[in-house]
Amino acid sequence: MAAKARARSAISRPKATAIQPAFLPFAKPAIDEETITAVSQVLRSGWITTGPQVEAFEAALSRYLGGRAVRAFTSATGALEVALQACGIGHGDEVIVPAMTFAATANVVLRVGARPVFADVDLATRNIDLGQVEKAITPLTRAIMPVHFAGLPVDMDALYTLAERRGLRVIEDAAHAIGSSHRGRRIGSFGDFVAFSFHPNKNLTTIEGGALSIREPAEARRVERLRFHGIEHNDNGDMDVLEAGGKYNLTDVAACVGLGQLRRLEQFNQRRRTLAACYFERLKTNPAMLLPAHGDEGHSWHMFAPLLPLEHMRIGRPQFIEEMRKRGIGVGIHYPALHLFSLYRKMGYRIGDFPNAERIGQSTVTLPLFSAMSENDVDRVCESCSGILGKFRKDAP
Ligand SMILES: *Cc1c(COP(=O)(O)O)cnc(C)c1O
Repeated sequence: MAAKARARSAISRPKATAIQPAFLPFAKPAIDEETITAVSQVLRSGWITTGPQVEAFEAALSRYLGGRAVRAFTSATGALEVALQACGIGHGDEVIVPAMTFAATANVVLRVGARPVFADVDLATRNIDLGQVEKAITPLTRAIMPVHFAGLPVDMDALYTLAERRGLRVIEDAAHAIGSSHRGRRIGSFGDFVAFSFHPNKNLTTIEGGALSIREPAEARRVERLRFHGIEHNDNGDMDVLEAGGKYNLTDVAACVGLGQLRRLEQFNQRRRTLAACYFERLKTNPAMLLPAHGDEGHSWHMFAPLLPLEHMRIGRPQFIEEMRKRGIGVGIHYPALHLFSLYRKMGYRIGDFPNAERIGQSTVTLPLFSAMSENDVDRVCESCSGILGKFRKDAP
């Protein structure tokens, strides 16, 4: 064949390009067309801030939580802060929080003028260790703020028995736990104060948003006041300002998104459970990673976060995450130990104070888990993990 013809045939031959699967993030919200249509109607209605949609969303959440008083917020952070204020917690008080959680859990304690006191978490459940909580209680302790980590409820019987025995309030950070239940009872359908987050990564989203479930109806009124400028209306409809409240009211646009999400929450969470079961099935032959606690059907699987076997790896976590990214997979970190951030070191916390929180903080990786994922996606994630861990093992050639 002449050189020219050879060149031509090479050009015309279709190139064998590997089809790159779409990038798989570790979390992704699922908003349906019905919700988008409903949101456009709200936007066109002339009323876009707190109004009938928020009222309907609060009522729907209340029904979902067995008739409890529920108030919507612009974030879980705002809801947690208001719950602390509603308990009268402030200067000179201590609140016990897990040493491994998102910064908001402890920051809100500082924001009301109180002192967060850390307690270590359990290595498998990642939840606050109630034995450590007991040891951290002092005469200044006013409340415990547990986190239902990744949607796995803390032992509610033990928690509330302890709180009652020591005369403490409980403010549950249930940011991960909408739809979780403990011994058949939904998180937020019982308990003292329970705060949910509706950030886009969470199991239910309102874009940004949160809610507070309240045991004492009398406290709901105070919560409303603290949520909105300290304003109260008397029986004549006259407005008064009773205290310096915050400004945390949800918009009707956001609440409309929430209503569309709440209709599908059970379906979302069922899907998350199926995908988590897939992860366990695929990763049981990869004993290198320390898998999270299995939980039961009450687990809502907000995240699937194993620990990397760093001691057996030639690369660190940042390189592992980079290798996953190269394979088109997003990996998160939830969370570094909270007591080692500058703000908390300034309070005197040191390396070595909370060994489990520190080990999790250094080695945890959040693998993709969201309702629109397929089981093939789980396969892809697990194959990539195994491939990377095999390639970069300490004893690998
Ligand atoms: C997301 C999250 C929060 C904060 O929620 P926002 O709604 O973003 O304020 C608090 N605590 C934990 C454990 C969270 O994951």
